[in-house]
Amino acid sequence: MNLYTFETTWEKILNKIKENVGESVFKVWFLSLQPKSFSQGVLKIEVPSKFVKDWLEKKFNQLILKTIKEYIPEIKEISFVVSTEPQLKINVQKTSLKRIVKTQEQKQLNIFEINPQTNLNPRYRFDNFVVGKSNELAFAATEGVVKSLSKLHNPLFIYGPVGVGKTHLLQATGNEALKRHKGIKVKYLTTEEFTNRFINSLKNHDVEKFKLEFREIDLLILDDVHFLSGKNTSQEELFHTFNYLYNSSKQIIFSSDRPPKSIPDIEERLRSRFEGGLVIDIQPPDYETRIAILKLKSQEKGIILDDFVYEIIANEITKNIRELEGILSLVIFHYEREGKLTPEKVKELIKKFSKEAYYRVNPKKIIKIISDYYELKEEDLFKKARNKHLVKARQFLIYFLREISQYSYTTIGDLLKKDHTTIIYSYEKIVKEMRKNPLLNQEIEIIKSKILEN
Ligand code: ADP
Ligand code: MG
Repeated sequence: MNLYTFETTWEKILNKIKENVGESVFKVWFLSLQPKSFSQGVLKIEVPSKFVKDWLEKKFNQLILKTIKEYIPEIKEISFVVSTEPQLKINVQKTSLKRIVKTQEQKQLNIFEINPQTNLNPRYRFDNFVVGKSNELAFAATEGVVKSLSKLHNPLFIYGPVGVGKTHLLQATGNEALKRHKGIKVKYLTTEEFTNRFINSLKNHDVEKFKLEFREIDLLILDDVHFLSGKNTSQEELFHTFNYLYNSSKQIIFSSDRPPKSIPDIEERLRSRFEGGLVIDIQPPDYETRIAILKLKSQEKGIILDDFVYEIIANEITKNIRELEGILSLVIFHYEREGKLTPEKVKELIKKFSKEAYYRVNPKKIIKIISDYYELKEEDLFKKARNKHLVKARQFLIYFLREISQYSYTTIGDLLKKDHTTIIYSYEKIVKEMRKNPLLNQEIEIIKSKILEN
């Protein structure tokens, strides 16, 4: 086999694999494979990391070997070797628990603040990101990006619902890239920040400075680009910044709550830029990943709870990792105060405080409970009358329709036949008062637990 024919054969092999696994999977796992040597029937293939090696061995060994044999029958075996560049330390889901020990370095990192130059939070790292089925593709893609800035997946576009770890992964990529490539310029921004900064620079007549700052960047990370929807001027500026960076071979990573094709009110040319590299989604975590995340987070807080606690939480909270963390903090708080936890108590805490429990509440129930509580008829809540008692009941109704049913101000306004600005005013008034007045807080808690009771 001479080198020339091998190269073309290798390309054919890769193409065949691509047909089998699809474009995105191919780009993430296979694009960086490098055949290194061949002897005694064994082909050694270099891969960028241990993570990729484990994954390929677990899921694609058969496919790769079979495809290779079709073209080069002399090859009897393949072996993956990790490239000799410095390796990343990664927690693979099933072993994450045992390996995570809070080191002094990590403890100190926790108190580090957001870096003003990069805007990155050091709390978000690869080594505290639990990898499972729901995010492994996205994780591998970011790993590829760190390794080969701008040469592999550019731009990388990661999308998924709220609370699945997009921001964590994006920021971890920035942090890791800084560690690996000394001296590069990294910038992390939410799209809202990008937009605000741009608009301010317009106001202050220093757009040039803004442009210069962004055009010096080697890795630009823009979180939540769905925010651009309908914002024409910012889209225009982002488009130019993108083109500039892309043409200068700089890496860009975007995140969004939905794929580019589903972002409404966005310029076609920007959409096609988003789609021009690799587009990958993150799904809500499966049960095992939720358990692994809970264990990791509680170790980070320096505590290990009985498994039943993790199991109950992971069973109840299925979509949002931020909420998983929130409930865990609450359970730990309770445990530290009371010195014990029972399954019933954990369930009770979850019921009271989970947003998922909120979704199961019918708004009609909120209306009924509030009218019962204030001894009013349900229809009174929708009347114009202005006595104090009624005004208060109505404010609570607004508060809970917003907090629990997550209705928009406009929807609540339509329901109560009021302008949405009045609704915003009422809602904010309650929130402000809650901060000052513990009695009001208590009242809210009482009503809330009635609403969330079965
Ligand atoms: P999103 O940006 O998708 O809304 P975030 O990145 O803000 O979600 O994640 C919410 C919280 O969950 C963060 O505190 C983050 O650290 C945590 N988290 C998300 N995914 C993981 C994961 N795979 N491993 C560990 N923590 C995670
Ligand atoms: Mg986010």
